[in-house]
Amino acid sequence: MTCPAACARLAGAAALAAPSLAAAGPQPYSVAPALPSPLVRPYTALQWETFDPAAATNEVNSHTIYVHRCVDSDCTVVQGTTNSTTDPVHSSLGHGVLSPFSQGDATWQTVVACMQEVYAPFNVQITEVSPGTAPHFEILIGGRPEEIGLSAGIGGISPFSCMPYIPNSVVFVFDVWGNKPEEICATAAQEVAHSFSLDHCIEPSDPMTYFDYKGRRHYVNAQIQCGSDCDQNHRSPLGVACTGASFQEHPCACGGGAQTQNDVQVISALFGGGGATPPTVKIVSPKIGDTVEPGFSVTAEISDDVAVSSAELRVDGALIGERTAAPYSFTGPAPLADGTHTLEVTGYDNLGAPGRARIQVIVGPGCKAPSDCPTATDVCVGGRCVAGPEVTGGLGQTCNMQTDCASWICAADNGSRYCVEACQPGQCPSGFGCRDDGMGGGVCWPGFDEHSGGCVAGGGAPIGPAALGLALLMLRRRPRGAR
Ligand SMILES: [Zn+2]
Repeated sequence: MTCPAACARLAGAAALAAPSLAAAGPQPYSVAPALPSPLVRPYTALQWETFDPAAATNEVNSHTIYVHRCVDSDCTVVQGTTNSTTDPVHSSLGHGVLSPFSQGDATWQTVVACMQEVYAPFNVQITEVSPGTAPHFEILIGGRPEEIGLSAGIGGISPFSCMPYIPNSVVFVFDVWGNKPEEICATAAQEVAHSFSLDHCIEPSDPMTYFDYKGRRHYVNAQIQCGSDCDQNHRSPLGVACTGASFQEHPCACGGGAQTQNDVQVISALFGGGGATPPTVKIVSPKIGDTVEPGFSVTAEISDDVAVSSAELRVDGALIGERTAAPYSFTGPAPLADGTHTLEVTGYDNLGAPGRARIQVIVGPGCKAPSDCPTATDVCVGGRCVAGPEVTGGLGQTCNMQTDCASWICAADNGSRYCVEACQPGQCPSGFGCRDDGMGGGVCWPGFDEHSGGCVAGGGAPIGPAALGLALLMLRRRPRGAR
């Protein structure tokens, strides 16, 4: 098979990753790759960056990522060698003025909080304040790709290189995601990490993927197959041939032929690990599934190994209130439509590391059947409309951590880990049973038979310490008697 032009660029880029960095010449410069078709979601793109290899060494020149909300005309971009420290910024990717970020303050704050949480494992500061001429990585969030001369349909774009990092990189998240802060955050996390030499990958819960995911994406600490970004001609955005499941796998762009990359290892190698232990947050009132009245109160217990600096309440993602000292009690919004609503309390420690707890409550009569729910894939558990088994992160989906689940409850038993929902007996949908969580409550567990106290497909009834709201809820088997 003949080698497409992009292969030559890959080969050139791979050569730059060799130890003799200073000897390597500038990389060839390419136009943006053709967009895959059909577009199932706004696609992100990456583009080889030309810059002086001597500018990047293995020692990263900044630990700051500036998330830049475009306001007025302050997201002006001048074509040139990428540089976040000039005013206006320079970018190899385009030229023009991005219009302001169109979503509201609540959406923006969720994006910032998400980026802070996603980067909490690393020695990286996420800031909304411009570092000015100090070295930094910058994510411009706003406007449309056409405004800087790029194709419509691009959701975000980054320069790309196999250098360890692109100094003072400027990446873009366009205002095409609507009011979806998790998608905006995941795109920001993906684009900036392209500046750290990371390619796309096939793990849906990792921000480097093109695959859909319901829930917050975090960089995964495992060797993950590169791909997810292949078009109908089975080519990656950089022109590499795709193979494997659904022709969505390809070698990693900077792996010297390797099929996998470990995002956490790559980012940690650049920046080092984060030091802050996030606060522990527990919503004590209301309880999961409670029916609440307008203006209800929300109380949380927040603790930290050093100090809790502040706390926030969000209802369905919108910021409702802030507290800078205990007690962490809030008043919920007065008007809320009948249905299921998500309460989230975030506690920040003295270093800004966030810890979160999330529960769902009911306004009005609550659902009696899935047909009462607004989303076709929802199921009804105890009056709450919750993400069902067909949805990634929905009830019964496998999980590794709390944030993999729409419910934010990832329960484990004998190596099996599932997203679950809190329940009382008789409340779980078909195929699930309400299994004792060892704390006087229960969770909907796949295949559990409430009547026999056992699982249809193996497993038993649990006892033991367990706490709703922990990242991982451990279900323990009850000692087996006669059976
Ligand atoms: Zn990308």
